[in-house]
This record gives sequence, structure tokens and C-alpha cells, in this order.
Amino acid sequence: MKKVGIIGQRGMVGSVLIERMLAEGDFNKIDATFFSTSQAGETGPEILGTAKPLADAFSVEALSEMDIIISCQGGDYTKEVHPKLRTHKWQGYWIDAASALRMDKDAVIILDPVNMDVIEKAIESGVKDFVGGNCTVSLMLMGVGGLFKADLVEWMTSMTYQAASGGGARHMKELITQMGQIGETAKPLMDGNILELDSTLSSLLRSNEVNSECFGVPLALNLIPWIDVPLDNGQTKEEWKAVSETNKILGRENNQIPIDGTCVRVGALRCHSQALTIKLKKDIPLDEIETIIRESNPWVEFVENTPEATREKLNPRYVTGTLKTVVGRVRKMNLGPEYLNVFTSGDQLLWGAAEPLRRMLNILL
Ligand code: NAP
Repeated sequence: MKKVGIIGQRGMVGSVLIERMLAEGDFNKIDATFFSTSQAGETGPEILGTAKPLADAFSVEALSEMDIIISCQGGDYTKEVHPKLRTHKWQGYWIDAASALRMDKDAVIILDPVNMDVIEKAIESGVKDFVGGNCTVSLMLMGVGGLFKADLVEWMTSMTYQAASGGGARHMKELITQMGQIGETAKPLMDGNILELDSTLSSLLRSNEVNSECFGVPLALNLIPWIDVPLDNGQTKEEWKAVSETNKILGRENNQIPIDGTCVRVGALRCHSQALTIKLKKDIPLDEIETIIRESNPWVEFVENTPEATREKLNPRYVTGTLKTVVGRVRKMNLGPEYLNVFTSGDQLLWGAAEPLRRMLNILL
């Protein structure tokens, strides 16, 4: 049995990864060791009736004994430990949720329903580092990857509606805490004048009384059109990832499809949604587009462009906790017959984070 080290099991991505591995019986196929950066020696998670002590995630010796390592710990950890392991001549496979190695020339971004060919070629050529993609990029490609594979996309804009979970466990709790505080403040005013309710809550949001340590400002009843650090060209790094990672996943680094847009944090809990404008290379009938999207992978669910279907299915409420990627509002835009409007939503902790890692483990096994 392959020895598999898992780092970051109590974080948001790590918890979902373990939940999925248990559901799919993956632990029956591996000899798993859990590592922690802060709790080495404490009891690890109970897997198949046994809970072993957590190993030290900074011990190069202990990590070197693994055939495969899956890290859900974060970029700083990867930057610190991965080079030490490779210097130590560790030849194992490194599978990572963090972005640190994504654009490394020796690393492959994994999303096997979209780029299994790229992954297989990489394994054959001796690549050892496999990194999960940015969550919005992976979810976008799970939704409309078929149009890219058919080489129908001239360019695309992506306006995102990203959930609190993108920041991790603490960010999700902060959003819920803010909602609770808002609910408590609103309760005595609910039978009164609407303007009084509105001004009381607006004042609360502008005060320093709402816990906003993670997001910087309240996210509840608000939105934040800024995710990640600024780049020199005015984009955020999250926005840059759309063009760089999409093209790398598709193996098109030297023939890039232009992609740009604005990434916005909203008060959804764990599903990212995106409004896409796709400039097609030619005018294709909508029924053909629908077929390409429906047939691109088994997890896509096409949503009819009706108010009922859209309200019921094209949203975080419907997809949360599932592997579905819903794609809807598909219509030609008034801009011209080659301009396609699409809206998509998916659980960013599953296809956007943990699931490509779990599947990569199975591909290697
Ligand atoms: P996270 O929830 O903050 O967990 C990361 C680590 O923080 C944990 O493994 C844990 O390490 C430590 N930690 C400290 N206090 C904690 C607490 N109260 N609860 C849980 N963990 C705590 O981060 P994450 O969202 O899982 O992200 C991990 C990596 O995946 C990051 O590089 C992120 O960019 C990437 N990623 C995240 C998402 C996402 O949607 N969240 C999507 C794609 C990629 P110790 O046990 O060692 O202390």
C-alpha cells in the first residue's frame, strides 16, 4: 500500500477532502498519515475505527517516508517545506491545494475531467508536482470547459460572486457571526417603520461594532469587489488567475485565450457563481451549444432559461454540498449572434478545491 501523508486535515479544504475520501472508500487503498503544523502529537482524525497521533508537518524526515503527500495547508507552508523535501531528494508525488506552485513550469494544474490528457502526459514525462486550480477557474471549466475544448471561445469575461468559504473556515464563521448580529439588531424593529430598520442596520454596518477581522469590512448585507492582492495592472491576483490558470489547464500557455473580469466576494457560504460573457469564434445555434455543455462531463447540469428553473437550480442553495456544476441563463446577447451569456454555480470546496486532489490521488494509485 502506498504511504500517503495528508497535511491540513482540520482546515476547510482538508475537512472536505477527508469527508469525500471516506465517502469514496479511498482510505481502504492507502496507508494514511496525518500531519499538522500546530498539533503534532495530538490525536488525529478517526479513520476506519483508528485514530493515530498527528505527525509533525515540518519534519522533512517524516514527510520523506511518504510516497504521496497531499497538502491542504496553504501557500506559506508549501513555499517553506516543498523545496526542502526536493533538496532532500524526495522523489514522491506532491499534490497541493495552495496556489504557490501552480505556475511553476514543473507543476501541472489538475482538473482531470477537463485536462486528463495533460495530466497523463505529465505523469509519463516524470512530473511529480500536481496542484489544484483556483476555485473559480476550476468551476468555470467544469461548467463551460466543453466550449473551450471545442475551440469555440475567442475571449471571455467572468464576473464572479464568490462565497465566504474561499477564505477558509474562519471567514465562514465570521459571515455567520455578522448575520447573527444583524438579526439580533433587526429583531425589535421588524414591526416598525422600514426606514428606521434600514438606517439602524446601515449605521451598524458603518460602525466598528461588526466583527470583520477576516474580511476587513462586513460581508453580510454587503459585497467586496476585491479578492487577493493587487497587481501592477490594476487587476487583483484572483482576476489574473482566470487567464493564466485556464490557459495552463488547457495546455495553451503559448496560444492564450484572453479572459478578464471582476472578482467579487458576496455573502454566499460555500459556492461560487459567475456571470460569463463568451465571444464565440463563430455563430453557433443555441441547441448545439447546449449539447456541448451537457456532454462535457457527467457533473454538469444544464438549467433551462426560465424563471422557475433558474430560481430553483441556478444558485448556491441548489448545488451546495454536491458535485454538480449548474449552467444556465444561456442565451445569445443583444451584442450580436457570437456573444453568449452564461451563468454558472458550483461548490468551490468540492470541484473548486478538494475533489481534484482526491481524484489525482486515485489517478496516481
Ligand atoms: P483553512 O481553513 O484556514 O485551514 C488551513 C490550516 O489552518 C489548517 O490546516 C490548520 O492547520 C490551520 N488552522 C488554524 N486555526 C484553525 C481553525 N480554527 N480551524 C481550522 N484550521 C485551522 O484554509 P483552507 O481554506 O482549507 O485553505 C487551505 C489551502 O487551500 C490554501 O492555500 C487555500 O488558498 C487553498 N484553497 C482553498 C480553497 C477554499 O475554498 N477555501 C479553494 C482552493 C484552494 P494546523 O492543523 O496545522 O494548525
